[in-house]
Order: sequence, then C-alpha cells, then structure tokens
Amino acid sequence: MIERSSRMHEYLRSLEQEREPLLRELRAYAAEHYVPIVREETESLLRTLCVLRKPESILEIGTAIGYSTIVMARAVPEVDVTTIESFDKRIPIAEENLKRAAVDGRVELIHADAGAALKKLVSEQKNYDLIFLDAAKGQYLLWLPDIIKLMRKGSVLIADNVLQDETVLESRFALPHRSRSTHERMREFLYQIKHDPGLDSSVISAGDGISLSVRL
Ligand code: SAM
Repeated sequence: MIERSSRMHEYLRSLEQEREPLLRELRAYAAEHYVPIVREETESLLRTLCVLRKPESILEIGTAIGYSTIVMARAVPEVDVTTIESFDKRIPIAEENLKRAAVDGRVELIHADAGAALKKLVSEQKNYDLIFLDAAKGQYLLWLPDIIKLMRKGSVLIADNVLQDETVLESRFALPHRSRSTHERMREFLYQIKHDPGLDSSVISAGDGISLSVRL
C-alpha cells in the first residue's frame, strides 16, 4: 500500500511544470543546504488555494529562505504577507530572496519565535484571510488557539506536513522516543481541527499531508 502511494506521489510530481528560473535556483539552494521547503505538489496546491481564496492578507509561520512566501505573494498580486522565522541565519537570505522576487514591498518578515510573535499579533487584534503553518511540527497544537484567534469568518488555515511521512498512522510505540511527542501532538492537532465546531476542516494526503480549515 505504501509502495503504491509513493508511486502515486511520483506520478503526481511528474505532472508538475518546470518552475521559473528564480524558484528553480531557490529549490536547488534549499536542496544543497538542507533547507526544508514545500514539496512541489504542496506548492501547487498552496498557489491554487491562494488564487481561489484571493486573500488580502496572509500570515506564514515558517519562512525559511522565503520560497513559499514568494509563491503566495506572486499568486495574489495585491496581497500583504506577514511571515515569521526564528532562525537567525535564514533571515538575511530570505530578505535577499524576497527582494530578488520583487515582493519585498508587500512582505513583512518578523524575526522572532512564532509562539511569542503569534501572541503579539493576537494582542494587536490582527486578522488574516489565509494562514500557512509550516514551522516546528510539534508546536502546531500549542499554537492552534492563537492561530484561530487570528482568523475571521471565511479565513483559511493551511498546515503542512501533517501526515509526517505517513508515520502519523503508526502506533507511537513503533516510533523512536524522540519522535513520539511530535507524533502525539500532530494526531491531537488533526483531531482538534476536525472536531472544533468553529472550523470546517479536511486532511489531504497530498505531498506530506496538508490540512485545510475554514473558520465558520
Ligand atoms: N515555508 C517555507 C517554504 O516552504 O519555503 C519552509 C519553512 S521550513 C519547513 C520551517 C521553518 O520554520 C524553518 O526555517 C525553521 O527555522 C522555522 N521555525 C521552526 N520553529 C520555529 C519557531 N518556533 N518560530 C519561528 N520559526 C520557526
């Protein structure tokens, strides 16, 4: 079954069009420097959802080198993007890439731990039409209450890597000790978004698993 699903992923990836030169260069940089960025099929879904939802404001949690930030900012020409990254070394690289992509005028890069940054945005009563959650997977559950406060009716939350290379379906005892708490928190995150009466959520097994939640 796992073999069949990975062949399916390969097939779906083979349908992807070649990216434009800057995105190709950033993908090559990410691969060479072990920077985790969105998979190609996830990138396509993210772009399609941006085009569909036409957000005026986006919050991204987990900038890395700015790849997905650029994809979203380019998908919706007028959108303002706020993106959060805590890893010092990635900040100047992301800033440079945003400038090269000519989206820096519409992107605010917050250099901070996401937990603290989310609390600050909540205290400022900020709202976003679309939130892309793509940082420490073990924190999704802890950040969820503040993320929901940053959504208004019709806002969309997209969370990446929710199936954790399919390990999310394994018993916790089949996993190494170090992965168990992330695994349990991710399962709890998925349960919460599926059972919160204020959200309509679906979990999709595209890429490494994506959840989509709309605030009701
Ligand atoms: N969204 C990016 C893309 O697809 O181009 C990839 C983001 S990468 C998967 C996750 C990023 O989240 C890393 O650069 C990491 O440093 C950052 N991160 C992890 N934990 C964080 C935290 N607590 N606060 C802020 N950033 C965090």
